[in-house]
Amino acid sequence: MKITNNYNVPAPLVTLATKEYYTKGASQYSVTELMSPPKVKRLREQYDTEIVQDVSDMLWSMLGSALHVVMERGETEGFLSEERIFAEIDGVKVSGAIDLQQETPEGLILIDYKFTSAWAVMQDKVEWQQQLNIYKWLVETVKRKKVVGLQICALVRDFSRHETKEGYPNSPIHMVDIPMWDAVTTETYIRERLEMHRNAKLAQDFGEDLQPCSDEERWMSETTFAVKRDGRKTAIRVFKSIDEANELAVKEKGYVETRKGEPRRCVGNFCGVSQWCEQYKGEQDVTA
Ligand code: SF4
Repeated sequence: MKITNNYNVPAPLVTLATKEYYTKGASQYSVTELMSPPKVKRLREQYDTEIVQDVSDMLWSMLGSALHVVMERGETEGFLSEERIFAEIDGVKVSGAIDLQQETPEGLILIDYKFTSAWAVMQDKVEWQQQLNIYKWLVETVKRKKVVGLQICALVRDFSRHETKEGYPNSPIHMVDIPMWDAVTTETYIRERLEMHRNAKLAQDFGEDLQPCSDEERWMSETTFAVKRDGRKTAIRVFKSIDEANELAVKEKGYVETRKGEPRRCVGNFCGVSQWCEQYKGEQDVTA
């Protein structure tokens, strides 16, 4: 990947962006790679030398890297920072770097730092569950220590003290408890992911189509139906169901505007490979 500096930011920031603070070591898959859509991993490998990213678009990942460095200076008794653990499953080496392990008399609590939005904290983020439960499996398999808790330490970048929505984080540093899986569930999940990545690699080697990314993997937003009226700028109400929207539109003598859901990961090119993705480009051709 080439990193550009289009906005002339200071060179040390470019160095920070370029430097790999977070490597997968000698493993075939890091936990995040395992969880990522197989199509994204294949396309990223295929177009590695052509992918260009500007340093200005890497702010949050740079802050994530900076946080890992800073954490090493915050050594505290009873806490272990930044340990990378390797394990083998069906002959494949998998590794994960755990931000923080807290010792308690009952066992370990695993904590992962995330720079994130208040909106993300308010959702049931299944990928947080997947990631932390693989860490739990790594610790229990390799270190033979009991894990009694999983937590996300969310650093809420858009926190506002004035927000009163239900479920809104009550401080800019917010702890989220993550449900724990048993070892069998996690191993089944890991095997499924490995199988998907293996099949994608085979398909690519034989020049076949890659399995499409799922709606979940593409961060597909929901289609909604806004009830509007002429002469009013904002919607009267927005519904998830067209029937409810139609009903209100009749009452209000208004009309329904369909707001089509969109694959946010593709549209924002958060996968980094949207320009080479036939799945996404094909859809754009159809809607154009
Ligand atoms: S553009 Fe969308 S569909 Fe294509 S690889 Fe990226 S996330 Fe997947």
